Amino acid sequence: AKPVPPLLEKTSQSARLFEEAAQCIPGGITANIKHFDPYPLFMESASGARMRDVDGNEYIDYNLCYGALMLGHGHPGVRRAVAEQWETMGSFVFGAPHALEAEMARKLIDLYPGIELIRFTNSGLEATMLAVRLARGWTEKRKIAKFEGHYHGGYDPMLINVQSRNRKRGERPRPVVDSRGVLDEYQDQTVVLPFNDWEASLEILEEEKNDLAGVILEPVQGGFIPPDPVFLRSLREWTNKQEIPLIFDEVKTGFRLGLSGAQGRYGITPDLTTLGKVLGGGFPVGAVGGRRAILETASPVHRGDVLSGNENQTHSRDVLFHSGTYNGHPTVLAAGLATISHLEYEGVFAKVEEATRLLRNGMEEILARWGCSGSTLGDGTIFNVMLSEQPVQNGTKRDAAYPCLRRELDIHLLERGIYIKPMNRFSLSTAHTPDVVAETLDRFEEGVKRLTG
Ligand code: PLP
Repeated sequence: AKPVPPLLEKTSQSARLFEEAAQCIPGGITANIKHFDPYPLFMESASGARMRDVDGNEYIDYNLCYGALMLGHGHPGVRRAVAEQWETMGSFVFGAPHALEAEMARKLIDLYPGIELIRFTNSGLEATMLAVRLARGWTEKRKIAKFEGHYHGGYDPMLINVQSRNRKRGERPRPVVDSRGVLDEYQDQTVVLPFNDWEASLEILEEEKNDLAGVILEPVQGGFIPPDPVFLRSLREWTNKQEIPLIFDEVKTGFRLGLSGAQGRYGITPDLTTLGKVLGGGFPVGAVGGRRAILETASPVHRGDVLSGNENQTHSRDVLFHSGTYNGHPTVLAAGLATISHLEYEGVFAKVEEATRLLRNGMEEILARWGCSGSTLGDGTIFNVMLSEQPVQNGTKRDAAYPCLRRELDIHLLERGIYIKPMNRFSLSTAHTPDVVAETLDRFEEGVKRLTG
C-alpha cells in the first residue's frame, strides 16, 4: 500500500468533518477560497498567533482570516470591548442609529486622507459594490475600469479578469468573465487594465474615457504586489484631470500598511476608499468613504429641510440607494474601535513590520541556503513567497512565479504546524513576536529541506 502522507495521517478528524460537510454544503466549504486539496483543515480553537485543529494539531497562523486579524486571535482588549458593549446595550443590535457609528466615522475621517464622509456595510464586497454605484451615480457614466488580477469581492460585475491571464507584453487585456452564471454583458461595462504598466493603461484609458465612471484598484495587488510609484502617481494625475473618480480598494491594505492604509503610505489620495477586514476586528464589516460631494448623493434628506423641521424626502430617483439591515452593527464597531485604538499605541505597527521583515529575511536566507531560487514580495505586514527568479510586477508575471513547487512547500509547512492557505499570502499580527518568528523559521527550514531533499 502507498504510504499515507504525514498531513493526512494526523488530520483524520478534519477528513471526517469534511466528508460530512460535503454532503450538505457544495464542496464542503462556505467560501470557495477555503478549499484546498486533499481537504481543508477544520479548526477548533485559537489564541494569539496560534490555531488548533480538530485533531489537536497546533499551527502558527499566517492566514489570520485572510489578513483580518491584525491583533491575532481573541485579543483581550477586543473581547472586553464587545462584552462591555453587550452589557451596556442589553441587546446585540438596535436597527436604529447609535453613537458608535459617528465615533467610528470620525476616527476613519481623521486617519484616511481620502475620507470626508463614510458609510458602513457588512463586507468588503458590499463596500466595493457601493463605491462603484457612487462613482456611476456621480458621473452618470457607464463603464468601470479595473485591473487584471485584482479582486474586489465575488459579485457579478467584479468577477471579470480576477484571474491573471497569460498575455504578451503590450497586448491589451480583454474583459473575460471569471465565473459561471455571470452574464457576458458585464464584459461590455468593464474596461480591464494591466497593473503597473502605465503606458499600456493610459492608451486604454484615453480610448474609453468618455464612457468611464470610475477606476478601481487594489493599490497593492493581492495585498503583496506593490504599486510602481510612477504608475500610481500617473493614474492619480490622469483621473484627476479627467474628473473620473479613483477608487482605492483598501479592504486588504487598510490598517495593514499603517493606520492610514496605502493612501497614507504612498501619499496618494483617492476619491473613494473601501475598507473591510481589519476594520471589523474579527467581525464582518465594510465601509466606503470619500469626497463629501460624492458621498452626499447617498443622503436621503435635504439638510436645509431637516433643520427647518420639514423632513420631506427627495425624489427617490435623485438619491443613491444604500441600505442594509446590519449596517453599522454595534458589536462590529465596538470590536473595530478597540482594534484601532490598540493599533494606535506608539510602536505597535513598527513592531509588526519589524517581525515581518525578520521573517522575510529569514525565509530568503533559508531559500538561498538550500539552493531554492525564490524570494519574498510585499509591503508592510503582508507578503508572499515567490519561488521564481523572475521579477513580479503584475498578474501576468506573477503566474510564472507560481510553479507547483510552492504548493508542495505549503503542504510541508502545514505538516510542520505553519498555517497558511496553500498558494496564499502570509499576514502577521501583533501576536507574531520575534519568538514566534524564530519558531516559524525553524519549521520553514525543515519544510524547505524536505522540498529540496
Ligand atoms: N476587496 C479586496 C481587495 C479584498 O481583498 C476582498 C476580500 O478578500 C474584498 C474586496 C471582499 O471583501 P469581503 O470578503 O469582506 O466581502
